[in-house]
Amino acid sequence: MSPSSPLILLVEDDLPIRRLLRTTLSDEDYRLVEAETGQKGLREALQQPPDLVILDLGLPDMDGQDVLRQLRDWLRAPIIVLSARDQERQKISALDGGADDYLTKPFSTGELLARIRVALRHATRLPGDSESSEFVCGGLKVDLAARRVFVDETPVKLTALEYKLLATLVRHAGKVLTHRFLLKEVWGPDQVQELHYLRVFMAALRRKIEADPAQPRYLLTEQGVGYRLADE
Ligand code: CA
Repeated sequence: MSPSSPLILLVEDDLPIRRLLRTTLSDEDYRLVEAETGQKGLREALQQPPDLVILDLGLPDMDGQDVLRQLRDWLRAPIIVLSARDQERQKISALDGGADDYLTKPFSTGELLARIRVALRHATRLPGDSESSEFVCGGLKVDLAARRVFVDETPVKLTALEYKLLATLVRHAGKVLTHRFLLKEVWGPDQVQELHYLRVFMAALRRKIEADPAQPRYLLTEQGVGYRLADE
């Protein structure tokens, strides 16, 4: 483990999960600081600002949402929240409140590591190249500068709104985007309740982009939360 390995702060009261992450993360050469309470997590973050935070929403001493808010006041590092199956609402409000991603317990370590890679990749992008003009994943290519979309080298014709939706996903590729966020970005702040717009346009995009719209390879559904564009 080198001093330049990314530093991860894990705020989680559940000992078996901390043990599992301790092994998994050190095998992958991440440095880890653990906190079993929200207060300790906030203190650790101040003492040694982490490159990424994994935050359990169900903590013994304070609401995970408050920990998130207090961290987000000053910390730019990505925050991945851990939530239980019955914490759907908390999970969504955490994402709308500045969390970058989430995992629902129980999760696989492979899944966790993939989320960490994506979050760190987004965080290390320089401000100027955050809009690298070309996105490629498998057979999907989106050229943001030319506003052109290709599937297996074949140009795809999209309507202006379909393109706007896809471009928004591309700019946050790999990251889960909530319904609310997508509606606000694509249709505007007055339309955040209009979930059916999103469903209709996502279905149209899938018909044009996916080989099998019922089993999407690129435009992934995050059940009850939103959508994610695959990026690996
Ligand atoms: Ca917990």
